[in-house]
Amino acid sequence: MSLPGDHPIETPPRAPSPVHRFGTLAVHAGSPIDPTTGAVIEPISLSTTYAQSSVGKPIGEYEYTRSSNPNRLNFERAIAALERGRYALAYASGSAATANILQSLAAGSHVISVSDVYGGTHRYFTKVASAHGVRVTFTPSIELDIEELITPETKLIWIESPSNPTLSLVDIRAVADIAHRSGIMVVVDNTFLSPYIQNPLEHGADIVVHSVTKYINGHSDVLMGVAAFNSEELWTRLSFLQNAIGAVPSAFDCWLAHRGVKTLHLRAKEASRNGLMVAEALSRSPNVQAVNYPGLPSHKQRKIALKQHRDGLGGGMLSFRLKGGQEAAERFCQETQIFTLAESLGGVESLCEVPSSMTHSGIPKEQREVAGVFDDLVRLSCGVEDGNDLVADALQAIEKAVVGPKITNGLASGLANGHA
Ligand SMILES: *Cc1c(COP(=O)(O)O)cnc(C)c1O
Repeated sequence: MSLPGDHPIETPPRAPSPVHRFGTLAVHAGSPIDPTTGAVIEPISLSTTYAQSSVGKPIGEYEYTRSSNPNRLNFERAIAALERGRYALAYASGSAATANILQSLAAGSHVISVSDVYGGTHRYFTKVASAHGVRVTFTPSIELDIEELITPETKLIWIESPSNPTLSLVDIRAVADIAHRSGIMVVVDNTFLSPYIQNPLEHGADIVVHSVTKYINGHSDVLMGVAAFNSEELWTRLSFLQNAIGAVPSAFDCWLAHRGVKTLHLRAKEASRNGLMVAEALSRSPNVQAVNYPGLPSHKQRKIALKQHRDGLGGGMLSFRLKGGQEAAERFCQETQIFTLAESLGGVESLCEVPSSMTHSGIPKEQREVAGVFDDLVRLSCGVEDGNDLVADALQAIEKAVVGPKITNGLASGLANGHA
């Protein structure tokens, strides 16, 4: 078994190096030409075990697939390069990445988290971590509250920027500077932007996590997670848990996700362009109360976006409040023809959902509304279809959801209810 220090993410012999830009790294990092066959695309290594030449001496660098696998290692190298970290570790899901990081804390530890975290993260923090003696405090305004929330037991700060589903931003550098004074680690869930738009390690975060299921894989056909970081001590602790807990991705999933990574820059750019087009169109609609999109000049933390996001891009995710309440929000999601009503995000195809009754239904209503997750909030994941078609689809669905029922009132809305 090779020792931790044996696997720093070195620059692979071919293209990638720190001088190369994102697109070059996305295509080449962790993608060496197969030394035995010359295959340009790596084979899928399905073998679960690897032969040894004598007892305890594996022929190559692999022994057993849970501990390490060529496809997983190549994928991890690609993500380390794209997140500008030395190391990356892949997991069976984004949730498994979160669980592994929380499991690395000793019982009695305290965690501070932003309020509107991913629903599953909130569930883990409140229902699982607590059972292991890890206490989590949530705050809607971490930059303001952090100093007074820190206790001698505080070991970790959890940030999602942009947050889900209200797209509010956190100044990572500001939080990290305060946290580091007390030796507290900062984790940023970067799922919503992908490494193309934001690299939290460059802004002072200690660990960046992703649900690879979303933008990194990008084709809605793989469930996976990843964490990237620079500290060798963290590598030792987390890779031990990765193997010990065993929530690791399959070789095939790693191969698929790695294929997805190679077009991440193209997809993220296009999704972001579409996100801005849709957000602008929604902002102009008299039937929309509010639009949350960090790419809009009107976003309350636009300054942070300009500082933290590549070219100030807003990403493909946005949310908005429809006039007409929960009913209008639900109706909108049934009237779209391109946006599919479904949970998840970050794929090439556009999706829509109502967080209060879907992804965030597990969070009590009062807590939800403090975080801005009202019943009339719709969340959109803009894919890479033609932006003009997405705008037209959203506007026609609004027309049917808000204006339609109002004009026809009694009779037609009665009929509509009958159908719903
Ligand atoms: C989906 C998601 C997760 C959880 O990832 P899974 O791969 O579904 O386990 C965590 N954080 C965010 C922001 C997500 O969108």
